[in-house]
Amino acid sequence: MIVMKFGGTSVEDSKAIDRVVKIVRERIESQPVVVVSAMAKVTDQLLTIGKAAGNGDRENAIDLARSLRERHYAAAGELLSTGVFSEFHSELESDFDSLDELLRGIAAVGELTPRTMDNVMSFGERISSKMVTAAFSARGLNATHVDSRECIITDNTHSKALPLFDEINPLLHKTVRPLLDHARIPVMGGYIGATREGVTTTIGRGGSDFTAAIIGAGLDAERIEIWTDVDGMMTTDPGICKEARRIKSISFEEAAELAYFGAKVLHPATLLPAIQKNIPVYVLNSRNPKSEGTRISARAPSSKNIFKAIAAKKRITIVDVVATRMLMAHGFLKSIFDVFDRHKCPVDMVSTSEVSVSLTVDSNEAIPAIAADLQKLADVKYEGRKAIVCLVGENIRGTRGIAAKVFGAIPNMNVRMISQGASEINISFVIEEDDVPEAIQSLHKAFFSETDPEIFGEVLGK
Ligand code: ADP
Ligand code: ASP
Ligand code: MG
Repeated sequence: MIVMKFGGTSVEDSKAIDRVVKIVRERIESQPVVVVSAMAKVTDQLLTIGKAAGNGDRENAIDLARSLRERHYAAAGELLSTGVFSEFHSELESDFDSLDELLRGIAAVGELTPRTMDNVMSFGERISSKMVTAAFSARGLNATHVDSRECIITDNTHSKALPLFDEINPLLHKTVRPLLDHARIPVMGGYIGATREGVTTTIGRGGSDFTAAIIGAGLDAERIEIWTDVDGMMTTDPGICKEARRIKSISFEEAAELAYFGAKVLHPATLLPAIQKNIPVYVLNSRNPKSEGTRISARAPSSKNIFKAIAAKKRITIVDVVATRMLMAHGFLKSIFDVFDRHKCPVDMVSTSEVSVSLTVDSNEAIPAIAADLQKLADVKYEGRKAIVCLVGENIRGTRGIAAKVFGAIPNMNVRMISQGASEINISFVIEEDDVPEAIQSLHKAFFSETDPEIFGEVLGK
């Protein structure tokens, strides 16, 4: 079997869903499980709607929910014949009615808990997966909708719930596998799950990729396909640099670094289950299905270029901790990290000197509280609106003079922190967020003007 995941833009309207039908039909022999995101932008809209309701702005929330409802009705109307549509319409209607009811409840209480927010956010995938199932059936594919909340069991860390693999895998075998054995196509929503008690959860923004990998690993897929709106993993974000090229083949480690450091095309957790089961992951373009995409696997052929790609992670805050009294006394670093740990705040980059430590974290609302706790140990400053730029490639190992080449390409940039060595396949540094486009374009020009045709494809972008 294989897993095919279609992102928001790949199911954004009836035309896009029609393309999905064609793509899946061509793979029918491989026994696909189909995972879909919410239609493009729907999750963002649900976030706005949930917040409006939480602020007591009931009218606004219900109005926005109505326009979501109309968009889905319009797409379903275009996809389905009149008879099928009227049947499906009542199913959609009951979902949107329960969303309205939920919003009214939130507005009445005037409070939005993380648990309720997850419930609101889950509607995008709950509904899109039903729509895609209906479209498949109407076009003669034997599709069965599976509510992901019956299989993807998570802890209760709402908005970034962790999957509980030991519980998920037997459920996948019980619910999804038999459908494949009966030549049916299971269609599931990404991003959503439920606790053991059946409370709806979500596994983090962009998490449908992760859902696909969880299912792929649980059912020992031959491969996991991530269908999106670009030709594959590119040498950098094509939205920032038009010269970005498709990477034909890349290793798990390289792709994982890129995903972690901001290459949005893959959710950072996606590759973990695939690596564990050694399942190749393909990134493919639903608007250009003929393109071969990117193959991500344990071993990628080596390239003549030093780097495979450049990524940037924005919304970073630098925290500087200056030890006035303790001058790096034994246990000082531990006490600093304990503070981040207590606030459950992951640290990306660290650099130390005799008397100070600089760290980077994703900007978040806990930073003032973290700083207050750190202040008990040392002097603390923090500064937001930074970005980590990260160059990745297995050839970094053993190439001399790389740092000079990298920083030579951006001679006037205000570089705040530098890190090389930890993974041996990544050089990263911190700059102002506003400088990201210029830095990426200069670095891309320096390192990807000439590319190894064995590893890199055409310049295409979106
Ligand atoms: P989906 O909705 O299909 O999950 P996303 O928007 O999450 O799609 O991811 C695809 C987008 O990721 C692309 O449109 C592109 O702008 C962005 N992106 C960032 N870095 C890269 C990269 N290195 N390669 C390809 N796309 C990238
Ligand atoms: N719809 C969710 C989001 O926008 C999950 C996904 O698309 O992967 O974050
Ligand atoms: Mg995505």
